[in-house]
Amino acid sequence: GDEPVKMRLAFGHLLKETISLALSGSNVKCKFDIADNLRLVEADPSQISQVINNVVINAVQAMSNGGNVYVSAENVTVWPRSITAREAGSYVRITFRDEGPGVSQDNLQKIFDPYFTTKEHGSGLGLAVTYSIVKKHGGHIIVDSSQGRGVAFHIYLPAVSSKE
Ligand code: ADP
Ligand code: MG
Repeated sequence: GDEPVKMRLAFGHLLKETISLALSGSNVKCKFDIADNLRLVEADPSQISQVINNVVINAVQAMSNGGNVYVSAENVTVWPRSITAREAGSYVRITFRDEGPGVSQDNLQKIFDPYFTTKEHGSGLGLAVTYSIVKKHGGHIIVDSSQGRGVAFHIYLPAVSSKE
């Protein structure tokens, strides 16, 4: 079915495993900054590694001459009525930042649309799938970019309540 498998994940390990696979054979390096008290998220590991893979593969493709992708993960609290919040609560936020050419203001509105691609042989499905997986997990995804300054994707996944 389409319901995510509910597993409590320690995120750091899954991030490192998935990224090292995604980067193998490329000249892109990854710099990690993962909080060591990272909370657990209730998530489907294969879907979450698909999210990580889709974002990292895009970063690799954006940096055909090599570069770095900076990956950080930390616990964040989103307060009611804060600017970025759709829903208040505790989240694990994973940020992927690259050193590629970035996305233009115009394209920024379209990158999550199915079949939107600027690549000759792109499917345009990677970020559409990523978006729907994150939503299905009760999370949010925020993109921050301007042309010439790389892209940052911030993915928020709800943390398992410490009372559970
Ligand atoms: P595809 O990779 O098949 O083109 P995606 O849904 O993964 O499809 O991405 C859609 C589009 O978003 C890409 O074609 C590209 O224009 C833009 N994009 C996504 N990630 C990045 C990135 N890290 N740097 C620059 N552009 C990006
Ligand atoms: Mg892609």
